[in-house]
Amino acid sequence: MSGITWRRSKRRLLVVSNRLPICIKSDGGRMEIQSGSGGLVTALAPIIRNTGGVWIGWPGCEVTSEVERLISDYNIENLFNLQAINISTEEVENYYRGFSNEAIWPLFHDLLGQCKFEGEHWEYYRNVNRRFAEKIVESAEPGDLIWIHDYHLILVAHYLRQMNVQHPLAFFLHIPFPNYDLLRRLPWKDHIIGGLLDYDLVGFQTRRDRRNFCRCAKELMPSLDIKAYYRHSNVRFGRREIKVGNFPISIDFSEFSDGAQTEEVEKEANYLKQKCQSKSLMLGVDRLDYTKGIPERFLAYERALEKYPELRGNICLLQLAVPSRSHLSAYQDIRETLEWMVGRINGRFSEFGWQPIQYIYRSVSRTELLGFYRASDIGLLTPLRDGMNLVAKEFCASTVDNNGVLILSEFAGASEQLSKGAIMVNPYNREETADAIYQAFHMDLAERERRMTLLRSEVKRNDIFRWVEWFLSSFRESEREGAASAIHPANSQSVRSRVESAVMESIKNGGNSYTDD
Ligand code: UDP
Repeated sequence: MSGITWRRSKRRLLVVSNRLPICIKSDGGRMEIQSGSGGLVTALAPIIRNTGGVWIGWPGCEVTSEVERLISDYNIENLFNLQAINISTEEVENYYRGFSNEAIWPLFHDLLGQCKFEGEHWEYYRNVNRRFAEKIVESAEPGDLIWIHDYHLILVAHYLRQMNVQHPLAFFLHIPFPNYDLLRRLPWKDHIIGGLLDYDLVGFQTRRDRRNFCRCAKELMPSLDIKAYYRHSNVRFGRREIKVGNFPISIDFSEFSDGAQTEEVEKEANYLKQKCQSKSLMLGVDRLDYTKGIPERFLAYERALEKYPELRGNICLLQLAVPSRSHLSAYQDIRETLEWMVGRINGRFSEFGWQPIQYIYRSVSRTELLGFYRASDIGLLTPLRDGMNLVAKEFCASTVDNNGVLILSEFAGASEQLSKGAIMVNPYNREETADAIYQAFHMDLAERERRMTLLRSEVKRNDIFRWVEWFLSSFRESEREGAASAIHPANSQSVRSRVESAVMESIKNGGNSYTDD
């Protein structure tokens, strides 16, 4: 209900993310803009449009006068207000590839061994976050609600508060949040926690992420008063109150469910089934990222073929790996590993007319993707850790005949919502994953339908539109509750310096423990 009140209130929404929801392509020297297609854009764009709001971010290339003109034409044509921030080549190298993708990304996905902690990367991260804050100050109008997205921009609120910005500020983290034993390895952990406490509302994907954050904050600042409720926690910090919630992000269910029933997608799916030459088609769709557990998945599949010979010739794994962050050596290494593994496993088991793995390294069109989802009997999504895993939800939404089985990692954020209908696996447990493949292969139609009906109704009920309404109504609530606190951080001692003194206090007292649900 409060979401509806929010829409009526017509307050401007100012959204900030590292990337703008567009893609600028150069075609034979001519530049053109394509709109972004994710569920988040679909849900936020009408709100931004209807409230006269703004979306600030980097367009993915240098902001030349030509790019500015293109964006301005795009805004006029689409009644939108995208505002581009320029990020230099050195900043992309250090803030984006360096600190965001080689420190925070692996650390927050529990993969300490992949982390590179470089002081220079950190300095760039701080500077770029400050520049985003300056850009926001240029664009913000009184009364705007300012919503910052994701791990690239954690410190933006800190700089906004330093600039005396008193607008309500919310942050949503799209990736997981680690536990304290991991976070404490980060040399700048207190800045990260302090930076998050500068927001009025901090949103995570899952209850586990929320709990990890609250415990980290309490470890660093024992004097924090944290109250945990079912849907959110309240962190009292001096006389400020910060609301911390878990908001599992979702997809536009109808887009996938309706799209999967179009004639062209059905054609695509039939073509794939014909080509597949096995009884059962099993699908993996991932960005090529070491967090997605693709090598572990291949080894589990190999184990299933070894252990259950009847699978040979009767099942095929179609793995789509979408190129990603290919400038980073860790991503080049995983690509080589996968190509080597596909060759080895196919060499070991292929028979005339059948090979166990079809591996595709490219992105595909929406029609092809829907065709993959529709044609597959089993979705095999086994990340080692994932903020949510939208592909799992898209697979369910597209399985319109209810005749599909989802095998899902217990370490995907989606597992909190989908565990009742999916077969849950620990991706590090090769034997268990191999058995899950065998179980899915043999599952009878009634059981498949029962499980998929549960999954589809969960994804349908909690779609991206509900998510946005829910987040924004919590934002308004946090604003009301925050207004009741007398001291605003912008007018008081900065949060950062209070974090630092609280950390010193903690060290003197020999640490502290925090328990909630
Ligand atoms: N996807 C895409 N191009 C493709 C294949 C998939 O854009 O060729 C999309 C897919 O539909 C999904 C997203 O990529 O929406 C992946 O999201 P997910 O949450 O599963 O993982 P992330 O890449 O965000 O870690």
